[in-house]
Amino acid sequence: MTNPSLLILPGDGIGPEVMAEVRKIIDWIGTNHGVNFEVSEDLVGGAAYDKHGVPLADETMAKAQDVDAVLLGAVGGPKYDDLDFSVKPERGLLRLRKEMDLYSNLRPAQCFDALADFSSLKKDIVSGLDIMIVRELTSGVYFGEPRGIFEEGGERVGINTQRYTETEIERGARSAFELAMKRNKRLCSMEKANVMESGILWREVVTRVAKDYPEVELSHMYADNGAMQLVRAPKQFDVIYTDNLFGDILSDCAAMLTGSLGMLPSASLGAPMENGRPKALYEPVHGSAPDIAGEGKANPCACILSFAMALRYSFDMGAEADRVEAAVEKVLADGIRTGDLLNEDGVKPASTSEMGDAVIAALNASL
Ligand code: NAD
Repeated sequence: MTNPSLLILPGDGIGPEVMAEVRKIIDWIGTNHGVNFEVSEDLVGGAAYDKHGVPLADETMAKAQDVDAVLLGAVGGPKYDDLDFSVKPERGLLRLRKEMDLYSNLRPAQCFDALADFSSLKKDIVSGLDIMIVRELTSGVYFGEPRGIFEEGGERVGINTQRYTETEIERGARSAFELAMKRNKRLCSMEKANVMESGILWREVVTRVAKDYPEVELSHMYADNGAMQLVRAPKQFDVIYTDNLFGDILSDCAAMLTGSLGMLPSASLGAPMENGRPKALYEPVHGSAPDIAGEGKANPCACILSFAMALRYSFDMGAEADRVEAAVEKVLADGIRTGDLLNEDGVKPASTSEMGDAVIAALNASL
């Protein structure tokens, strides 16, 4: 078995700051679990534009195709706002997603007990929440043709097309079922089969795929009801599988149940490679936070938890992922917080590196 390989792309703004803390965790796992990660680092976003004139160099793209997992910090910032659309920092990230064909976007919504007060919902509704939304990422209404603004009957019409092939629905469904197998073996598929043909096909295909996963309990829900249920009783869900548009909205909605942007990891997975591991990009949900960049104020937890997802989904190191997540939970329970997780005056926030060090201390204590 070859060593697991990881390409780190810190990016812009707070990206490099939070990634420095993830590096500590990678080293810790390497030392204490006897894993020899082959870690390489490169540029993406504005940082790549500054050096190469493009937000992702071809060599970096080739490296990303070659490794087991890519871990990205964040891209963008005001310095790059006036650049041509084709070289904006975000284009680097979009190129990675497109060329790696990452069709399955995993967004966990996990509410650590210590942060339940940060949720907009009542504590007992969100405390202990742990759900995963799998959003189809490369098709659907954001990509379907025809699209555009056209003249019709003397006025303009805006057109987008919801379009899904069986293959597209099925491959995302398989990754959702695989995930459910690694979790609590419950999957809820969300569409609007009551009013959309693409929803009818979606439901049929997911039901067919379910036959290959007899241990997983499958349910179906209309996506509008799903939105309601997510804020009414979110703990009823384990894994949710839905399309690109509904997933965009539902995952943002679910994310906010948990409190802070600084805590939210994500993964985007593609087809299995020769070694059986899926193509994978892991990144925090937050952006480059230019308002606090360079000040040591960023919360590194979202990026640390993104690495934990890499351990679980790319490296089959579920126990190690649990350990990292438990360490983050312990740090929060001990009251150590970066500024984004504090709402009381007079409490001194931890810096980015103090937070990373606290996670390392919790990992050491867990041995
Ligand atoms: P943002 O996520 O960068 O910041 C929103 C707010 O949350 C800010 O007040 C910020 O300080 C705070 N915040 C975000 N992450 C934090 C963390 N880890 N710790 C503490 N506070 C945190 O979103 P934005 O301000 O809308 O965008 C800023 C830049 O980031 C833009 O250029 C945008 O295009 C880019 N962006 C990139 C990504 C990405 O790389 N995936 C995602 C979203 C936005």
